[in-house]
Order: sequence, then C-alpha cells, then structure tokens
Amino acid sequence: MKPLDEARAEVLSVMPKLPAARIRLTESLGRVTAEHAIVREELPPFDNSAMDGYALLASDVETAPVDLVVNEDVPAGSVPAKHVERGTATRIMTGAPMPQGADAVVKVENTESTDPELVTIRTAATVGENVRPAGCDMSRGDVIVEKGIRLTARDLGSLASAGVHPVVSAMPTVALMSTGDEIVDPSTETLARGTIRDSNRVLLHSLLSELGVPVIDLGIIGDDPKALRTAYAEAASRADVVLSTGGVSMGDYDYVKQILGELGSVDFWKVAMQPGKPFAFGSIGGVPLFGLPGNPVSTFVSFEQFVRPGLLHMMGATKVLRTQIMGTLGEDVDTNEAKTVFLRVLLAHDTDGSFVAVRSGRQGSAMLSSLANADAFAVIPAGTGSLSAGDDVTLEMFRWPEGRSIDE
Ligand code: AMP
Ligand code: MG
Repeated sequence: MKPLDEARAEVLSVMPKLPAARIRLTESLGRVTAEHAIVREELPPFDNSAMDGYALLASDVETAPVDLVVNEDVPAGSVPAKHVERGTATRIMTGAPMPQGADAVVKVENTESTDPELVTIRTAATVGENVRPAGCDMSRGDVIVEKGIRLTARDLGSLASAGVHPVVSAMPTVALMSTGDEIVDPSTETLARGTIRDSNRVLLHSLLSELGVPVIDLGIIGDDPKALRTAYAEAASRADVVLSTGGVSMGDYDYVKQILGELGSVDFWKVAMQPGKPFAFGSIGGVPLFGLPGNPVSTFVSFEQFVRPGLLHMMGATKVLRTQIMGTLGEDVDTNEAKTVFLRVLLAHDTDGSFVAVRSGRQGSAMLSSLANADAFAVIPAGTGSLSAGDDVTLEMFRWPEGRSIDE
C-alpha cells in the first residue's frame, strides 16, 4: 500500500500547470492569482470625511457650542473650492474630499443650522476626528492579494477598489463519467432489482461546481469495453482532466483497467487510506486521469484527497489542502492501524468553545447518509489504531457548521 502523503505528492508532481490571463474581476471568483496583486496608489487617494457633517478646525470648537460661518457645500464626488479659515466650516458629505485647512469633521447630528450660512457646533472635536486620511486603507506597493490565492468575493471587492486586475489561472475543464452496468440515472423512480442510482456523478459534478470548475458530463458508461474506450478517448480529447468512478477495484467485470492500459498509461494504486483504498491515476495523451472507487463515500474521500488538491495545484494555488483544526473525540473509536482513516463526524462545541467530534452515523463506504450530515473528517493517521473519548483528534473541515438561527 502507498502512504497517502506519498500518493498525493506523486499526483501533484505530474499535474500540468494551466495558462493564466487577465480577465474581468466579475469572472474571477474562485480563480487563482498568477502574480501578486500590487496597489499602485494611495487608497483612499485623498483625505476625506467619514461622516456627513462640518469640516472645521478642531481648535475652533474647543469651547463648544460655537457658531461658525459656512463656506460651502461639498457633496461626495465634488471638490472643495474654499479653504477652511479660522471661524468657518464647510458642510461636507461622507466620502467627499476634505477642504484645505480643516483638520476634523463634526457630524451633522452634533450641529444645528437654521441659516444656510451659519452653523452651531455643539461638541468639541479632536484633530483628525472623522477624517479618513489618504492611504489609510492601502499604500502604493502594498500586496493586497498574494500570488497563488483562490480569489474570494472579498478579495475581488478589494481589488476593484484598488483598480487592480491580476492575472489569474484558467479553470481546468473536467470530463466526468460514472461506470458500471448496475448504475442508472438518479431520476429513476423505481429501481429494477440489482440497479442503483448514480450518486457519484451528482456528487462530483457538484463538488466541481463548488470549485468553479466547468464539467463535461459524459453520463453513465456500462461495463462494456467498446463504450468505455470511446468515452475515455472522448473525455481526454475534450477536457483538461478526466474523472471517472467505478471499475478500479478487482471485480471480474472491471474493464476500466484494460481500457486505460490501451489508451494511456494508468497505474492502479492501493492507497493506505480508508475509505478510498483503490485508486487509478495516470494520463491519456497527456491528460491526467483520476479513476475513483465506486463506493460513494470512497469517491468523496478520494476526490477530497487527490482530485481537489490536484485541480487547485493545476491552477497554481499555494494552499491545496483543506483546513485542519484540533478538536477532541466525543467517543471511543477503533480504527485500522494500517491506514489513514477518515471518519465522518459531526462537531459540537464543548463548554470551553473547542470542537468535540462524534461520528455522524454508520461509517460504511457505501453509506451516504452519514456523509451528507457530516461537518468534517476526523483524520486518524496510519499507525494510530484506537483512540478514546477525550483524546485530541485532527479535524479536516469540509464545511464550517453553517449559520445560526435567529434565536441562538
Ligand atoms: P466498483 O468500484 O465499480 O467495483 O464499485 C464499487 C461499489 O460502488 C459497487 O457497489 C457499485 O455499485 C458502487 N458504485 C459504483 N459506481 C457508483 C455510482 N456512480 N453511484 C453509486 N454507487 C456506485
Ligand atoms: Mg463497477
């Protein structure tokens, strides 16, 4: 058996890098930066008001209330024409440039004005109060997003404000198929004896969509050499990555091995992990191919451990693995010492705020119910064996417990 880390390193080492280009920010969500995004100017570019109010000299209002003469009105988007001299104030809106001479803003709620040319300032102000100085958010030369980062909505907002459009990686197109004579479309209402609905393809398609990766869905291919050969060849000719499930274990009707041997160079691995031990990896005409095991939970684990990191690596991401945190086990577990075991767990908060993990249901590799409601994997490294309630455990987060209801 291949240790998991070794297997993954081998996968990453041969994943080809995708080209990069400068594209619209609104199309860049989930893309990986191919260069540092660097700010070219001070942001904000000018001192401006953080409030609707009056720009003035703090030294004028030490003994508030004080009456000041109003110079002019400066809405956002316009430029002040007049200096603020001693004894005067400029009416200013949030975001508008500070007039020269002024060093503070008193918000409108703390003022009174019946005459447009006169204002009563009711509170004192300190120098700099309610003023956003130029460059307080970003300075020229700052790196706002590093190279190798998968862009979030927040990154994109920040890049937009700086007017920076970084070069980002292309997305890999993934061709996806399920194999197996017993597999029928998920829309099948009544299952004929011996058939099962295709859950893998929906699961994988959706996981790929979560990454923003376009999918070419080639459907279900029966255990038929001719159909498999055609489908794999088509997949490799149309996509950057080929992803199939089923037919990689030692079953009698597993033609996948034979076909892949003919079309390209593919190795059949036994990875020291559970679920997900059987796994095929190689290439057809230079296009990487992942042959995932048929059992749906094995498919998910293999996707998480190999495919997702592989795709992110192709995009040039620096961080390709899920976040791991430490928690404690809420129950005893006994696992296979020879393999890294991924338990599907639910997380609850202990009284001290730490995470406590308990199995989300039965752990068979064909059981999807305990996958659907899980928050994380408890990762029990090979060589561990059994653990007891209260022991520390590594939690690999594939979902942060979502949201709160309004009465929490
Ligand atoms: P295989 O890897 O082809 O030997 O399949 C292992 C197990 O996974 C068998 O019980 C299959 O019926 C099941 N399986 C294979 N493909 C799928 C699929 N697309 N959706 C759900 N179960 C599957
Ligand atoms: Mg099969």
